[in-house]
Amino acid sequence: MTVVRDPADLRRWVSETRVDGKTVGLVPTMGALHEGHLSLIRAATDETDLVIVSIFVNPKQFGPDEDFEAYPRDEGRDVSLAEEAGATLVYMPKPEVMYPTSFSTAVEVQGLTEVLCGAPSSRGAAHFRGVTTVVCKLLNTAAPDRAYFGQKDAQQVAVIKRMVSDLDIPVEIRVMPTVREPDGLAMSSRNAYLNADQRRQATSINLALRAVHEELEGGTALETALGVGRSVLREAGIEPEYLEARDLDSLAPAEEPLQNSVLIAVAAPIGTARLIDNFIFEPTAKSTPGLSLAMQGGLTP
Ligand code: AMP
Repeated sequence: MTVVRDPADLRRWVSETRVDGKTVGLVPTMGALHEGHLSLIRAATDETDLVIVSIFVNPKQFGPDEDFEAYPRDEGRDVSLAEEAGATLVYMPKPEVMYPTSFSTAVEVQGLTEVLCGAPSSRGAAHFRGVTTVVCKLLNTAAPDRAYFGQKDAQQVAVIKRMVSDLDIPVEIRVMPTVREPDGLAMSSRNAYLNADQRRQATSINLALRAVHEELEGGTALETALGVGRSVLREAGIEPEYLEARDLDSLAPAEEPLQNSVLIAVAAPIGTARLIDNFIFEPTAKSTPGLSLAMQGGLTP
């Protein structure tokens, strides 16, 4: 397994190794790898010849009161797991290499970053500015043919797709389904913050989304369906930061009659963890008997 820590070394490796029409896949992560990350690496391994996994806890996407210091880090374990899943190279730059003191640039996608997790009452748009800045740097350095992201971070996917389109970045964005624990909880590095009681409480996030899904399938009006989901959370002692319905691509509020794919997204604080999850509702699926939840955005493990 090749481990590279400097952008110039990564660029050199890519130009020397990408021969004979070989394709490059990039899987950006913040480490603390779990099955969700590994599913992206495996997909990249299936679809591209050279798979670069980046592991970088990006300080620019954490707010001053967020968990940058506490974020779980285990380089040795991550490198082994990435290798087992098929990665060719792990890129682990140091923050001072990514952001030297002279660093003065930010990449910002407007609009989409100001709602849901980007709302002032949530993480704020600065979070996504940190994400787009680092992802733009990673795409420039690795120059992949394809880059892999998880549907769990649906807003991040919408924002990155917009950045790639707006800035003419020559990469295909591949989005992989959310990988879940057997009880439906979306896998997340932040699940490690939960104690046993909080871990039990956290299953209600999935139950709430399932309840919303069931209501929508049954023809319940959107706001009523979201209200049912909020009640499920409150009954479990969880006050959601948001549980909202948005257009999947523009992230504009979903309006009835529902026509395009709708993102139903939730963020909920549990203990010191802040957990997010979502599913995609396809309005036309309402009349398609037998269409499974998994096909509609995946609420089942
Ligand atoms: P992170 O390390 O949390 O920044 O995540 C790195 C990538 O893994 C992002 O594209 C995430 O959307 C994706 N990811 C995280 N958790 C999951 C999951 N449970 N299922 C699928 N992808 C995931």
